[in-house]
Amino acid sequence: MPRPPPSPDACGAPPPNSALSRRALFCGAGLLAASAVAPSARAASKVAQRQAGYKPHVSGAARCEKCAQFLPPASCKVVDGTIDPAGFCNFFAPRPP
Ligand code: SF4
Repeated sequence: MPRPPPSPDACGAPPPNSALSRRALFCGAGLLAASAVAPSARAASKVAQRQAGYKPHVSGAARCEKCAQFLPPASCKVVDGTIDPAGFCNFFAPRPP
């Protein structure tokens, strides 16, 4: 019975004659690196509210709405998630007048 023709690998390269070609090795390394970097890049973009010591309501004058990092209506440049204008965290930086 004849064997079916070999199919291309994930990078579109024809199957190598040897068990492990250089192209397949680099392709696999690239895919592995991409999958390993993506979560850390995402995590590095913003800090979790808990890590920032975020509190949604504070009574003092130092509040998110007066912070240089605040992005109205309810976001922040450095802290992840929904941010209340009346909140506060350890990264508070007063907005210049
Ligand atoms: S105090 Fe500033 S840095 Fe902290 S969550 Fe509010 S807007 Fe973001």
